[in-house]
Amino acid sequence: MSGTEVGSRSAALIARAEALFPGGVNSPVRAFRAVGRPPLVLERADGPYVWDVDGRRYVDYIGAWGPAILGHAHAAVVEAVAAATRSGFAFGATHPFEIELAEAIQQAMPSIERLRFTSSGTEAVMSALRVARAATGRDLVLKFAGAYHGHSDGLLVEAGSGLATQAIAGSAGVPDAVAATAIVLPYNDSEAVTQAFVTMPGRIAAVIVEPVVANAGVIPPLDGYLEHLRVVTSADGALLVFDEVITGFRLASGGAQARLGVTPDLTTLGKIIGGGMPIGAYGGRADLMDLVAPVGPVYQAGTLSGHPLSMAAGIATLGELDEERYAALEESAAALASGLTEAAARAGREVAVARVGSLLTVFFRPTLPANAAEALASDRDAYARFFGAMLDQGILLPPSQFEAWFVSMAHGPAEIEATLEVARRAFAA
Ligand code: PMP
Repeated sequence: MSGTEVGSRSAALIARAEALFPGGVNSPVRAFRAVGRPPLVLERADGPYVWDVDGRRYVDYIGAWGPAILGHAHAAVVEAVAAATRSGFAFGATHPFEIELAEAIQQAMPSIERLRFTSSGTEAVMSALRVARAATGRDLVLKFAGAYHGHSDGLLVEAGSGLATQAIAGSAGVPDAVAATAIVLPYNDSEAVTQAFVTMPGRIAAVIVEPVVANAGVIPPLDGYLEHLRVVTSADGALLVFDEVITGFRLASGGAQARLGVTPDLTTLGKIIGGGMPIGAYGGRADLMDLVAPVGPVYQAGTLSGHPLSMAAGIATLGELDEERYAALEESAAALASGLTEAAARAGREVAVARVGSLLTVFFRPTLPANAAEALASDRDAYARFFGAMLDQGILLPPSQFEAWFVSMAHGPAEIEATLEVARRAFAA
């Protein structure tokens, strides 16, 4: 079923939600404000599909914002979680599943000699940077405009103006003093990073980067860029932190670091490793991670860290991933990207389709952006119209020009072709 009218159950629930939650939602992007549509109220998902409370089915490219690499409600994951619930949920003590999942992660990502589980990606990044500051005895963290690393104070920052590259708060409620501990530079500009280390030698604790940017729309690193970050951080005694919350186990089982061949000091993970249950993790060199309590002086903890149900879902998810399935996923995503490019060209639309593995973005601008400022120069109204035309025909895209589409292993040729069929009409309209 499809159509432009909001169903009656959806409308009633949205009205109740708006009285309860800011904007009716528990995370801002769910409000669909960037595309000017009422939010969806979803209650069921299976494979590549989600259903709203009025029974409308959509081919889903939100993918739970990343975790759903196997598609939704994969039988092995459902069974693993169901079985785990029968033994109780959380014990506040070490559980065998924590060890099993950690070993699977370590095997896929050898740079992670030791790790710690958290309940979200936000906590993982916040904690990794605490370790980096403790290890180096330095306060500044260098990040890139348009990247998202969770909503901890120190990372909700934007590029400051002028020569002083020091950041300003990117959210109300973030103290200036905290924002000033960040430096924000444009992504893919090697010279800017070199200059930052020249201007502030011995002061930067870490460079944190989404090795492939997914949170400004998909922006791959230019050739040699990540290698450059590796060299300049090492030369200055700063740490390189890869935020692989999205890219970990998505671009390869070893993440972007395996796919692109650059090894960070610390890595943050989330999403896929929890199979759709709440999770985060940070890890890396043993000497750095041994700074964490109770071994070292860096405090970090969590009542629900290493939650058995998250661990069970993660173990089952990683257990399903193999080279063959990654290759098939790459093929579906490539077919989708080339089909979208062709459909847009035929309709005379100026769009550029960025894709790395199963992450893609249709930028409503003539060329691929190399950084967030270029991405921002996309035609957001055109994206919103495209989003609406797709949604009305049962295809759910991310409700923002600047969020990646997540293709899953459950998206088969039928779903890809159905998506392209609708896209041909949507571009033409
Ligand atoms: N880092 C990256 C790269 C992310 O994409 C996200 C969330 N989308 C986070 C960190 C924060 O993760 P969480 O939402 O689980 O706190």
